[in-house]
Amino acid sequence: MTSVVIVGSGFTGFECARRLQRQVRRHGGDVDITIVSPIDYMLYTPLLPDVAGGVVDARFVTIPLAGTLRGVRAVRGRVEKVDLSAHTLAYTDPDDRTHEMRWDRLVLTPGSVTRLFDIPGLATYARGLKSAAEALYLRDHVLEQLELATIDDDPAVAAGRRTIVVVGASYSGTELVAQLRALADAAARQMGFDAASVRFLLLDLAEQVMPEVGEKLGKAAMDVLTARGIEVRLGLTLTEVHADHVVLSDDSRVDCRTVAWVTGVTAAPLIETLGLPTEKGRLKVGVDLRVPGHPDVFAAGDAAAVPDLTQPGKITPPTAQHAVRQGKTLARNVAASLGYGTAKDYRHRNMGLVVDLGPHYAVANPLNIHLSGYPAKAVTRAYHLYSLPRMVNRWAVGLAYVTDLLFPRTVVSMGLSSQEDAQFSASEGIPMPKAD
Ligand SMILES: Cc1cc2nc3c(=O)[nH]c(=O)nc-3n(C[C@H](O)[C@H](O)[C@H](O)COP(=O)(O)OP(=O)(O)OC[C@H]3O[C@@H](n4cnc5c(N)ncnc54)[C@H](O)[C@@H]3O)c2cc1C
Repeated sequence: MTSVVIVGSGFTGFECARRLQRQVRRHGGDVDITIVSPIDYMLYTPLLPDVAGGVVDARFVTIPLAGTLRGVRAVRGRVEKVDLSAHTLAYTDPDDRTHEMRWDRLVLTPGSVTRLFDIPGLATYARGLKSAAEALYLRDHVLEQLELATIDDDPAVAAGRRTIVVVGASYSGTELVAQLRALADAAARQMGFDAASVRFLLLDLAEQVMPEVGEKLGKAAMDVLTARGIEVRLGLTLTEVHADHVVLSDDSRVDCRTVAWVTGVTAAPLIETLGLPTEKGRLKVGVDLRVPGHPDVFAAGDAAAVPDLTQPGKITPPTAQHAVRQGKTLARNVAASLGYGTAKDYRHRNMGLVVDLGPHYAVANPLNIHLSGYPAKAVTRAYHLYSLPRMVNRWAVGLAYVTDLLFPRTVVSMGLSSQEDAQFSASEGIPMPKAD
């Protein structure tokens, strides 16, 4: 039987698998569709800041492959090597055993990982926000540090525990700092200490917070952050990270025990092992999402450099919005390559962004209409409920939103994700840089 193997169960791979299976069934075809991924779910990343902030339970932002991808075989494993001429791949399962798999069509959607730099201590002491383990760790770690600060005799050590540094002021870093602030405020009320004693620092080399949403909304977001007591320091990054302090690029030292590194992403490590042409580290593909010179290989999402037909000369940005739509086009074009239906080029105009800034506030620019305050909050939450690809998850997240409106946040540090679990290497599969 003809086999299609999809690598990665993120937005692109999940959508491709779901549509492809339907497309083949509609045409009465017989195709063996397999999705290979180290995790058995699709992670709805836009709600990771809410997980870190304790608004939404981590399970509610995971869409299980079992039960949602009917007719698709889900295989737990990380693809390590692809042989493009022999049409095979090798993957390692969670028990560290290596297996080989044959394919007639290969769909590469391994997404992206946090972009790290050779900053001493970064990979050891900082944590990212790309996986459920990282989001859970940040929530638990911040709360644990706030709890420890209440029993520290040395005020300087306590102040360090109450200082949280977030690096990266794009939408994910900004959402994260806003949610952690709300969590710390809830902890202060419930544990009986002064919320103003918790210091939040948001750093970025850029000159503006969230350049993606434009100057007006970026300024609105900046005003909200400042009003919430978050220090935003632009034109700055880290040069050293230690267990109890960081050094900034202006040579100043900040004592802190929590560093979140959310500065951007780069294509998954698998891409550079392929030996194929890349652009900005992403695998080059044509407008039909085929890899040039390899008619049986397709790629899309954060891992691929997909030409943006609405902005000639540019590639599409790494967003979920593009990833989902590219997943649909992939399904259609892979099916067409097997004789079911017709192929089409990928074309999608950006529909705008929604950014949740914690209690009562958000900014959004749907269809280029600039919104802030309550209207933006309503649009943001409605958008996520609509975009979650499973009814049970919509229900659970909807209830979490209502609970958040009616009750104080639950302040518990359950230790579900350890410092090791949340390391970039363990949770995202990034090899540790030499500097550490
Ligand atoms: C905190 C955060 C908030 C975000 N918020 C938004 C938002 O509000 N709006 C928006 O549009 N975008 C948002 N994004 C961006 C969005 O998450 C990405 O653009 C999207 O996830 C890309 O989808 P993908 O399928 O290409 O990759 P991913 O979703 O990253 O999925 C890749 C999959 O491949 C798997 N994989 C990796 N390597 C291998 C391998 N070697 N073998 C097998 N499987 C592998 C991974 O485990 C994963 O399942 C956000 C991202 C983050 C981190």
